[in-house]
Amino acid sequence: MRRDSSTVRDWSRQFHRFTARIAPFAAIASAILLLWHAARDPVPTVAAAPAPLIYPGARSPAPQPAGIPAAVQQAGLGSTIDVVVGRNDTLDSIFRRFALDKSDLAEIRGLPGIRQSLDLLKPGESIELRHSAGEVNELTRKLSPTETLKVVRRAGGYTAQLVSDPIQTRIRTARAVITSSLFQAAQAARVSDAIALRLAHIFAWDVDFMLDLRRGDRFTIVYQQLFENGKYLRDGKILAAKFVNAGHVYEAVRFVGPDGVDGYYTPSGQPMHKAFLRAPLAFTRVSSAFNLHRMNPILHVIRPHLGTDYAAPLGTPVDAAGDGRVQFVGREEGYGNTVILAHAGDITTLYAHLERFARKLHRGEAVRQGQVIGYVGMSGLATGPHLHYEYRIGDVHENPQTVRLPGAPPLRGSSLVAFRMQTATWLADLQSPLVGASARTATAANIAPRTVLPASRIAPN
Ligand SMILES: [Zn+2]
Repeated sequence: MRRDSSTVRDWSRQFHRFTARIAPFAAIASAILLLWHAARDPVPTVAAAPAPLIYPGARSPAPQPAGIPAAVQQAGLGSTIDVVVGRNDTLDSIFRRFALDKSDLAEIRGLPGIRQSLDLLKPGESIELRHSAGEVNELTRKLSPTETLKVVRRAGGYTAQLVSDPIQTRIRTARAVITSSLFQAAQAARVSDAIALRLAHIFAWDVDFMLDLRRGDRFTIVYQQLFENGKYLRDGKILAAKFVNAGHVYEAVRFVGPDGVDGYYTPSGQPMHKAFLRAPLAFTRVSSAFNLHRMNPILHVIRPHLGTDYAAPLGTPVDAAGDGRVQFVGREEGYGNTVILAHAGDITTLYAHLERFARKLHRGEAVRQGQVIGYVGMSGLATGPHLHYEYRIGDVHENPQTVRLPGAPPLRGSSLVAFRMQTATWLADLQSPLVGASARTATAANIAPRTVLPASRIAPN
C-alpha cells in the first residue's frame, strides 16, 4: 500500500516536472495556432471603407431639431390616410375626398411660412394625414429627399416644423479597371471591399472570379451610399453594375418584384441567378489576387483532366455549386476526401482533395447553392492545396468553366413592364459616363487599362 502511494506520488512529481518542461512549448504552440487563425480569418474591412466622395454642390442637411414635438407621439389615436396626389389634386380636393374638416385646413394654411410648401402639390407624391373623425391631427409631406414638413395639432393649435431626415441615400457611380486584383481596382476607385464582394456575388454565375479575371477587365457600379447628417454612414445596395471580362460585357440591374423580393437581372429581364455557381469556392480577399493561383500543370498528368483545379489556401470554404443532395461523402483513392452532389437534370458535381467536410455532412442530405460543404485541402493525389471540381451531365464530363448553366425563367408580362420602369434610371446611369457622379469617380476613370480591348466589346449590349 505504502509503496503504491509513494509510486503515485513519484508519478505525480514526474508529471509536474514533465508539464513544467513542456509548458513553454505548449505556449508557443498555442500562440502559433492563434496567429494561424488570425491569418486565416481576415477581419472584415467594411469598417475601413474609404471615405466616400461627396456630390459636388450637395447641401449638408440642417441638424435634426432636438426632439420631435411631443404631439407627434400623442397623435396615436385615429386613422392614417396615405394620399397619393393625383393630377389636378389640391389640398382642398383631398380634404373634400376624405371628408376632413375644412376649417382645419384653413388653420393649417394660416401658419406662417408654410403656405408655399402646401399649395404646390406634385402628382404622384404622397401626403400622410392622421385624423380622428375627420379632425386632422397631423399632416406630413416630404418636401425633398432630406426635408419633411410636419404639421401637428397641439393644445394651442397647429405647429409646423421642417424635419431633416438624418439618413440620406446618395447614388454613386464608380468605375475601375483591373490591373492586379478586383480589390486593388475597387480600392483605387474608392469602393469598399464589401461592395466589391457584392459585385463578385452578382456576377458569380457568369464570371469565375477565381480563375477568369484578366488584366484590363473593368467594371462600373451604381450603388447607394447612406449619409447621416451629411456624414458617410455605410454603403447600401448595388443598383446596377457592369463587368467586362475578357471582352465580354455582363450587365446586371436590381429589381424589387411585386412580392418585395429583390434580385439582379440582365437589362432584358433574365435573372442573373443560375442553377449553378461558376466557381464553387467562396470568393474571399485572400484568394482573389489576380494570377496568383494558377492551375498546377504537374497535377493529374496520369489521366485526362476532367475538371477544373482551383488552387486556394488550405481551409478555404468550398460551396455547393447548386441545390442538390449529397450522393457521396468520403474518401476515394486519388481524389482524397470527396463530395459528390446530385442535382436536377441528371447533373452531378464533384469536389475533391478536401481537407475536411462540413460538420455532419452526410449522404442523402439536401444542400443549397452556396452552402459550405467542405474545405480546400490536399488529400489524395495532390501536390498542393487545391480543389478539383467536376461537372457532369449524366456520364459526360463538361468543362465547368464553359458549360451552359441552366437558368431561371425571364421576367414576362406585367413583371417585365414594372422591371423596365423601375430599372431605366439605373441602367442609364450605368451607360452614361457623364452622369453627375463622374466627377467623383475621376480617380478610377483615370486608370488606363494595360490591355486595350476592342471598342465594340466594351460598348453596351
Ligand atoms: Zn484536378
